[in-house]
Amino acid sequence: MHITAEHLEFAYRGRRKVLHGLSWTVEPGVTGLLGPNGAGKTTFLSLVVTLLAVRRGRLLLGDHDLSTTAGRAGARRALGFVPQRFTLAGELTVADTVAYAAWVHGEDRRACGGAARRALELVDLQDLADRRTRTLSGGQRQRVGIAAALAHGPRVLVLDEPTAGLDPGQRLRVREVIARLGRDRTVLVSTHLIEDVAHLCSRIGVLAGGRIEFDGTFPELETLIEDDTGGSVHGSGFERAYDRLIARIGDRT
Ligand code: ADP
Repeated sequence: MHITAEHLEFAYRGRRKVLHGLSWTVEPGVTGLLGPNGAGKTTFLSLVVTLLAVRRGRLLLGDHDLSTTAGRAGARRALGFVPQRFTLAGELTVADTVAYAAWVHGEDRRACGGAARRALELVDLQDLADRRTRTLSGGQRQRVGIAAALAHGPRVLVLDEPTAGLDPGQRLRVREVIARLGRDRTVLVSTHLIEDVAHLCSRIGVLAGGRIEFDGTFPELETLIEDDTGGSVHGSGFERAYDRLIARIGDRT
């Protein structure tokens, strides 16, 4: 399923525009959404997941037109979303948390246990199904959040900063899970971590000045950064060059 934005505009009430005619197509696989702080990444994701209504321009999720109430209602069945911050009920078990999410998304009550088991397998948490969520590590909690978003079997998964605040080992596990999910879904991931996009994303969009200013692969983004620095850079040098490039793309607009 594709996500297609055409001349999408958005302003919060009484504020200046955050999105200025954004056009972009997100295809199946894992796509990264990058951009400086305040660029509008969370705003764009909120429009995709129907937390905000589309008023100007077009945004389609498959055939669902998100500018209509009926389109948004149809899209919700096809969508899973893990926000940047979420809370888990600490006394609930992992399995009950995910089964409850399936029920909230409209699954039949008798099917929720099975749906939860399948979702927990997708994120490698089947062995922790009976643990209370308050006993989990940050990375495990993040994977419970992903399982909860997957429990109703969506074709599109949207993740806002899924690796933020995790230590390197946990980040790796979460990235492995997301990469696997992208094999037969459309996964859109917002992140500010260059290593996330390098290891995870088959395509990358850079949001700056309210538009997608770069749309391509990681090697293409790397080439742009190398052109910017006059040669190949590695490690933290590369990260600094990347940050400069992102800032420059933003200044240009
Ligand atoms: P990013 O996710 O790229 O950091 P956001 O989408 O969170 O960017 O924010 C884009 C702009 O919209 C920022 O200037 C931010 O202050 C503003 N903004 C975000 N949420 C709201 C809101 N609920 N009401 C008003 N302005 C908002």
